[in-house]
Amino acid sequence: MQNTFYAKSTIFVYMQQKSISILSKTISKLPGLGPRIAKKIVLNLALNKEKTLIPLIQQLQDIYHKVQHCNICGNLDESPICNICNNHNRDQQTVCIVEEVADLWAIERINVYQGCFHVLGGNLCALSGKTPTSLNINNLFNRLQQQQFKEIIIATSATINGQNTANFIVDQIQQMHLNCKITRLAYGIPVGSELDYLDDGTLSIALLSRKDFD
Ligand SMILES: [Zn+2]
Repeated sequence: MQNTFYAKSTIFVYMQQKSISILSKTISKLPGLGPRIAKKIVLNLALNKEKTLIPLIQQLQDIYHKVQHCNICGNLDESPICNICNNHNRDQQTVCIVEEVADLWAIERINVYQGCFHVLGGNLCALSGKTPTSLNINNLFNRLQQQQFKEIIIATSATINGQNTANFIVDQIQQMHLNCKITRLAYGIPVGSELDYLDDGTLSIALLSRKDFD
């Protein structure tokens, strides 16, 4: 009898640990979180079901059901056209091309840019299979052909993949013979860095002192 009870308890503990370790593993894949922090988060959630876990489940469902890519620029928002594309007070003749939504948000955070955006969804990388068709590049070219811009700012990362992506896009744009200026971010961006990780001052200077793409 005792043995049966012991066996049942062991299974119960094992099941508990199993679900905790599965969730910990998933959370540890999120940017900036390692396995130890992930486990702490899961324990905190398990110990605070009413206050933290239940609201979090609801909020994650909201994100899943409501958040989507903007049909125009690729930003994330709760409607098919994002707040930035919908804001007609913004400069509709300047478009800033970035790799990730996080880069768009980084530029918005510094509050010096009032134009439009286009989010590529990554950069060209043969190793990880990122080709022009797997990125939001065709939509960019369609957009450039349909809408007249005075300036196109290439704000891809200062990494090899970012620069290769920039060169590919500029080559294609030049073949379209558009009547617009192509610029890129200038001073202050360390080689190899991603926009989202730059401090606000460095990113502001880089954006304000952008130069012609040569
Ligand atoms: Zn948009």
